[in-house]
Amino acid sequence: MNYGVDVDYLNEEEVAELLAVSSEVIVKYLYDGELEGVELGEEWRIEVGDLKEFISKLKEDKEEELKFKDQQAIEVDPNWTLDECGHCGELRMMNIELSPFCSVECRDAVDFGVQSL
Ligand SMILES: [Zn+2]
Repeated sequence: MNYGVDVDYLNEEEVAELLAVSSEVIVKYLYDGELEGVELGEEWRIEVGDLKEFISKLKEDKEEELKFKDQQAIEVDPNWTLDECGHCGELRMMNIELSPFCSVECRDAVDFGVQSL
């Protein structure tokens, strides 16, 4: 509802890559309804907003992990969040406290900009 002008979608492979798990794990969460998504043929479409919600739910609710204890469960470091790189805008899981950038290159690009002022 509050997504602004554009809504970004990811497929289950991209979500799996961001969370460093296999796509089978993501599909389990999708079928279980824990992660909202739309199944289109062989692929899923997950809204970035829904993924962010899912990640904060994982951080709050450890029962989610217990449910999947026989499977590979997603563990999210409470300091990590899904956000866009402050330099190139790429969507990544990152520790916003430490560095709001996707890579050292992006961090340096901004750091050097700041230092030269
Ligand atoms: Zn970047």
